[in-house]
Amino acid sequence: MAAELEWKGYAVHDTNNWEKFDVINIKPRPQGDYDVDIKIEYCGVCGSDVHTITGGWGKPNLPVIPGHEIAGVAVRVGPKVTSIKVGDCVGVGAAVCSCMKCKLCTEDNEQYCPKIVFTYNSKYEECGTISTGGYASAIRAHEGFVFPIPDGLKLEEAASMFCGGLTVFSPLVRNGAGHYALQFAKALGSDEVVAFSHSSRKKEDAAKLGATKFVVTGEAGFEEPLHASLDLIICTADVASGISLKELLSTVKPGGHFVMVALPDDEVPALADDLVSKGVYFGGSLLGSKKEVRQMLQLAAEKGVKPWIEVFPMKECGKVVRAVKDGNVRYRNVLK
Ligand SMILES: [Zn+2]
Ligand SMILES: [Zn+2]
Repeated sequence: MAAELEWKGYAVHDTNNWEKFDVINIKPRPQGDYDVDIKIEYCGVCGSDVHTITGGWGKPNLPVIPGHEIAGVAVRVGPKVTSIKVGDCVGVGAAVCSCMKCKLCTEDNEQYCPKIVFTYNSKYEECGTISTGGYASAIRAHEGFVFPIPDGLKLEEAASMFCGGLTVFSPLVRNGAGHYALQFAKALGSDEVVAFSHSSRKKEDAAKLGATKFVVTGEAGFEEPLHASLDLIICTADVASGISLKELLSTVKPGGHFVMVALPDDEVPALADDLVSKGVYFGGSLLGSKKEVRQMLQLAAEKGVKPWIEVFPMKECGKVVRAVKDGNVRYRNVLK
């Protein structure tokens, strides 16, 4: 079975030419006792892929094969793997490995482990191998970061849940959000779900996804009717300077939270005055734990949360990353 697995992926060689992908051979890290080899069927295209291949987050290790919303089939498992069997449908999100021993790892906070290895463009310390992502035929990951996909959930619909879905699910369940945030907030029982967007373009979609209110942040004074009223804002925007941060903070009630889940290329402005004067917490959240993946998939199955996706052949990845960069996606593109 292992012999059938082909290790090839679509790589960017130059951040100035980030729409140009070539097929290259992948040399995965040596297989560990807890590793699972996965034949990739689908991979969602995330904003992180664009930040990485364009060099927005700094110069990546080139060539880079992006992609961290992976769904596929386990074709080989290491001798100590207990949670996954060969033939299982599985997913991988934005990380593939951590120490699995520290306090964070043993208390369902493994995504915050200082030894975390991200799914692509990240170095395995022991062997020096640079990780490669899901725009590829195969991936190897530690079973702690390999998620069983329950029956009844299509692989193409599951794929984008492992970053886009989990990233907003985790802060929602930990504090009390994108298109997943609206659906999960509703599925988790929020009475009022407000969608903020810079224009009215997505208004109808937001209502279909569960928003009870739609607020256009491009309009002056948008924050006034909501003053100090919200418990939690999950900010999925991946720009800092382009959003009305001070105004948004003013809509959070004292003791409420504003949580960033996307990493902008630019700096967040100084906020101390706004936070202190309003008694608001400003924080961040990274991915989610394997435990939260299980909760998320169960909730998605029970409440029928499904992403809105469009599927493209993997060889069109250059065109698809351009669409993500330009914001022309409703709301997740998935490569096959
Ligand atoms: Zn750890
Ligand atoms: Zn992502």
